[in-house]
Amino acid sequence: MAQIIDGKAIAADIRREVAAEVAALSSTHNVVPGLAVVIVGSRKDSQTYVNMKRKACAEVGIRSVDVDLPEDISETALVAEVHRLNADPAVHGILVQLPLPKHINEEKILTEISIEKDVDGFHPLNIGKLAMKGREPLFVPCTPKGCMELLSRSGVTVKGKRAVVVGRSNIVGLPVSLLLLKADATVSIVHSRTPDPESIVREADVVIAAAGQAMMIKGDWIKPGAAVIDVGTNSVDDPTRKSGYRLVGDVDFGDVSKVAGYLTPVPGGVGPMTVGMLLKNTVDGAKRGIVE
Ligand code: NDP
Repeated sequence: MAQIIDGKAIAADIRREVAAEVAALSSTHNVVPGLAVVIVGSRKDSQTYVNMKRKACAEVGIRSVDVDLPEDISETALVAEVHRLNADPAVHGILVQLPLPKHINEEKILTEISIEKDVDGFHPLNIGKLAMKGREPLFVPCTPKGCMELLSRSGVTVKGKRAVVVGRSNIVGLPVSLLLLKADATVSIVHSRTPDPESIVREADVVIAAAGQAMMIKGDWIKPGAAVIDVGTNSVDDPTRKSGYRLVGDVDFGDVSKVAGYLTPVPGGVGPMTVGMLLKNTVDGAKRGIVE
């Protein structure tokens, strides 16, 4: 049976570490890390994520700068808001909650965020540096960074191993592949046009599942003993629940847990790590801003 990686417990450790760093920054340099969390419009899911992030900031002593903007804000006005935050010395990180309304070009907005404050790590320059040998991005996207942290804190080595990532999105699949490569794994990426994905996944010592396909990955896709990180968060109908649904990963947990060496649950695996890494990135941004 696989060792279950407890993302909640690991994320709680990270939050404690971040809180200690925040306290130290405040006493040694009189600096309180600040994170601007920008939300445009009133999408329910976005509001839930934003509230979660703001609450997490408060818990570790990071100052949350709340920027709530109307759905019909113009692209020019949003760019001006980002520029204002870029120039604010009390703001060390800027997070613009996605998706943005259809009339706003997301790529343009993400590119306007100063790379020194790009705590989501989505600026093309940060992603570009992540992709290049010998270069280091200022920030790494939070969910991919969380996956790597789960592996390392569980004692799974990646160097020299075969890693397969299922999914190639800009926010998860691609950056996690680049991180695995930087960590000296031999990496393959499987996507929706890959024929016979199971035969490729079966070669992997480390599997990162980020396809957004409920329970797609079965036990017979997995090499015995492999470490499997399940990023997928899919809601499926469940009439036995009061809500009428439950969350499942891209991995068939019951089946894969009989074969894998390590496995993350959904929920309680990668999810809590994403916010933990956002807090860590914000503190790193604040530290970088200190001139000794
Ligand atoms: P996207 O929909 O942007 O990307 C999905 C990727 O998976 C695409 O590259 C797609 O291929 C690939 N894919 C889709 N179907 C298949 C298939 N049948 N076989 C192989 N590859 C496939 O999703 P995201 O990357 O944004 O998110 C992925 C999952 O992770 C989602 O369930 C999401 O909810 C979850 N998530 C969880 C987070 C967390 O904090 N826990 C954070 C972010 C995401 P192609 O490129 O060819 O279309």
